[in-house]
Amino acid sequence: MIRVLEPEVINQIAAGEVIERPFSVLKELLENSLDAGAERIEVEIQEGGRDLVSVRDDAAGFSREDLELAFVSHATSKLSRLEDLNAIVSLGFRGEALASIGSVSRARILSRAGDADSGAEVRAVGGRGGPVSPAAAARGTIVEVRDLFYNVPARRRFLKSPQAERARCLEVFTRLALAHPDTGFQLAGGGRTLRLLPGETLSQRVGKLFGGRTESLCLPVRAEREGIRVAGLAVDPDGARRDRSQELLFLNGRPIKDRSLSHAIAQAYRDYLMGGKYPVSFLFLTLDPREVDVNVHPTKAEVRFHRARLVYSVVHQAVRAALGRRQARLGERTLESVAELRPRTGFPELPAGLFGAGEAIGQGFGKLPGAGRRTAREARPDARATFRNVRDFLVVRDLYVVFETDDGIAIVDQHALHERVIYEKLLRGWREGKCPVQRLLLPAILELAPADKDTLLGHREELGRGGLVLSDFGGGSIKLEGYPAALKRVDPKDLVDGLLRDIQEHGPPREPEELRERLHSAACRSAVMAGDRLGEAELRALLRAASSLEHPDNCPHGRPTVL
Ligand code: ADP
Ligand code: MG
Repeated sequence: MIRVLEPEVINQIAAGEVIERPFSVLKELLENSLDAGAERIEVEIQEGGRDLVSVRDDAAGFSREDLELAFVSHATSKLSRLEDLNAIVSLGFRGEALASIGSVSRARILSRAGDADSGAEVRAVGGRGGPVSPAAAARGTIVEVRDLFYNVPARRRFLKSPQAERARCLEVFTRLALAHPDTGFQLAGGGRTLRLLPGETLSQRVGKLFGGRTESLCLPVRAEREGIRVAGLAVDPDGARRDRSQELLFLNGRPIKDRSLSHAIAQAYRDYLMGGKYPVSFLFLTLDPREVDVNVHPTKAEVRFHRARLVYSVVHQAVRAALGRRQARLGERTLESVAELRPRTGFPELPAGLFGAGEAIGQGFGKLPGAGRRTAREARPDARATFRNVRDFLVVRDLYVVFETDDGIAIVDQHALHERVIYEKLLRGWREGKCPVQRLLLPAILELAPADKDTLLGHREELGRGGLVLSDFGGGSIKLEGYPAALKRVDPKDLVDGLLRDIQEHGPPREPEELRERLHSAACRSAVMAGDRLGEAELRALLRAASSLEHPDNCPHGRPTVL
């Protein structure tokens, strides 16, 4: 039997599209406040937004009649004729957000329009807007969204930890705050309050959101061609990160992701960055809205440019020019100071290296004539034995150690092996309940993006157990007081960067065990990168250590160590 769906059900279905997690609620509410012309916006988030997302603004407010319709789907003041779709300027336009939010949470809107002498409120109950009642309110609007997905248990269960949800909310907040430097923002809840004043410059905002070092490395970007304008900041390659999370792009004031433009930026940085590092940049594209299709993605995060090639080339050249100005400045420095700019590590990233991706020793030996079809497990005792009686060896390009074995020759990826050795050392320390800590004489103060800081502090205890001792240093900074002693010498910043990147790549750790794993693999990676070229004695020690490893055949990330 065909039935017409109840509006609550339709809204819940729509909500599935628009409201995915707390950050989606925050995004819609912030966009509404900005659309309504807010000069100041205050956000509060509790339990990563599961308990509460609240956004308060000083904008135009809702009239009483508007409030009646606030939780009704396809009610929007922003779009009435189809042609408007071709020239969308405002941030939200589908008239779906509030209705969707109201259908999956306990939401309340309290508002007072600029010309009204009193306020009013409306609540969404059981997926419907309730009656509008008078209430005391300052000019502007507060939207409170509590208990997200309380009536959709399957979705509620799907939410991640409060820290993880909070981190996503912070990302949304950060993007919108960057896009609207004229608007003042405040973010409360979860301990610290972040305040961004109205009318800050972009680089001041970058400083508050990403730290003073990033701010000091900003290079201005500005270019215009055939009506396509790009402006913003490109961060000096010295401020590059190990992930793309701080490569932010905006189109006509709206945060977007665009693979092709991301590529354009990466290409511009290509000559300046080592493998595995990504640009940090905050770029704002402005062009005629009719030149873009923004309606290709349900949350409008992806767009389609009509003159895509031209846009690519404008962005690419603008960033290149900015970085070129940096080069000119460096040229004026003395030779000595330029020498410092050489990459600190001598070894390139070798994801596949000599051995082909993911080919462990088992398969590797399996290919040798006579080795038959041994499984990786059967081959493992061989891997350990391989290292047992090494007499002479040859080092090739500081990357590979070659030596004779009983039945052939072995080629060892010394960095992969080194990582494995350090990793197992850390693991042993942790298992035996004593991970010796190297206390820093001078604690390192690291400035981090708010989301990153929250992630680390949220796991402080487990990290401590893994050997990483850190604490809140106030503002956007953390204080690193110690790290696992098994890492003789590592750059604390690299260590923390590596850890954050692991967390970002693999999602937030669900159990302490997983976190420890991330810490240790980041730790040994950066220990190896910071390490010196190995001398003969060290190489011998390394090979000896390999003969008693649990898993000598792969580095902790699965790269084969020996062929
Ligand atoms: P849309 O933003 O797509 O129009 P929403 O469901 O997000 O749909 O909002 C519905 C309408 O409610 C908006 O068109 C706007 O008129 C009004 N509105 C929402 N938030 C605010 C706010 N903070 N201040 C004033 N009006 C608002
Ligand atoms: Mg909206």
